[in-house]
Amino acid sequence: MFEYTGAVHIHSVYSDGTGKIEDIAKAAFDSDLDFILMSDHNTLKPKEDGYEKWLNGVMVLIGYEVNDMSNRNHYLTFGIDEVIGTYRELGNGELGCKLSAKEYVKEIKDKGGIGFLAHPDEERSHLPEHPSYPWIEETDDYTGIEIWNHMSEWIEGMDEGNKIDRFLHPLRSVIAPPAKTLKRWDDAAMKRHVTGIGGVDAHALKQNVLGFFEVEIFAYKVLFKSIRTHVLLDAEISKNNQAAFEKDKAGILEALRKGKCFVANFNNGNARGFRFYAEFRGITCNMGDTISANGENVILRALVPKECEIRLIHNGNLFSESKGMNAAWDVNLPGIYRVECWTASRGWIFSNHIRII
Ligand SMILES: [Zn+2]
Ligand SMILES: [Zn+2]
Repeated sequence: MFEYTGAVHIHSVYSDGTGKIEDIAKAAFDSDLDFILMSDHNTLKPKEDGYEKWLNGVMVLIGYEVNDMSNRNHYLTFGIDEVIGTYRELGNGELGCKLSAKEYVKEIKDKGGIGFLAHPDEERSHLPEHPSYPWIEETDDYTGIEIWNHMSEWIEGMDEGNKIDRFLHPLRSVIAPPAKTLKRWDDAAMKRHVTGIGGVDAHALKQNVLGFFEVEIFAYKVLFKSIRTHVLLDAEISKNNQAAFEKDKAGILEALRKGKCFVANFNNGNARGFRFYAEFRGITCNMGDTISANGENVILRALVPKECEIRLIHNGNLFSESKGMNAAWDVNLPGIYRVECWTASRGWIFSNHIRII
């Protein structure tokens, strides 16, 4: 399989981000990323303006982040050529979709798009100027969940006392995905396939807090050293080849749809080379796959690029834990399995599920 690393959930000057798309692409290239998934609020204007292409050495894929009239239920949408629903001003300059979240999630799915619940369990009590935007709607039509969001975690633990430290060290305070979100993900994935992705969520917070640190702290280059989503593809991407762009884009979106991907915090080490796979009757199965084992033994294997704590999670519960650069487990219980890698008490790599039935 071919591995490609990307950053997902990025805002540009087309909504409340601070960078132009060409500069964001350049920062991504300099950070050794292969692709970026842009998600400006409620708009596909950057796509209409021709930014979805190979740009400065990276693949720029353009989707959008939709929110409802209560500015909740943020949904990261990709692989679709229209902004679903009609929109109205929320009174603060932002827009809200007049459809309910249940309706837009369904419509995006029906039109062939994929979508991810963004920062679903956000809680922010310390900074009234930055309210939380949790997911509060019941729906089963989404593709996946953004299990780890840099900006959410960074703001969530911020208070008047540690504000300056957080601005000076924007990567250090990002420790692990919220336990609540991992539980939400495992619970949903026990019923059907649900992909987990990671997002950086670059927003323009600069005007609101400590203005003089703004540019350096929230440079996209800094954020690109944080949460990344790695995809595993069957076919190699044709670098800088615009003619093959649509085919390669479809490959990346399909990997995200099927869960052939993992999430990692680059700040804890480059996760390139991580693998979680299963062997059953001589066949190798990967994340996102379902194995019909009917009680027979399946071997699960994890390979990690550096020594860390490797945890196997079965149906949301810790099944086994070991230290090293690889691990293997002989399992025969049905359910969903995923791997977490931790280093120095920090979450590093979070795989997608392998399902055994
Ligand atoms: Zn959002
Ligand atoms: Zn966002």
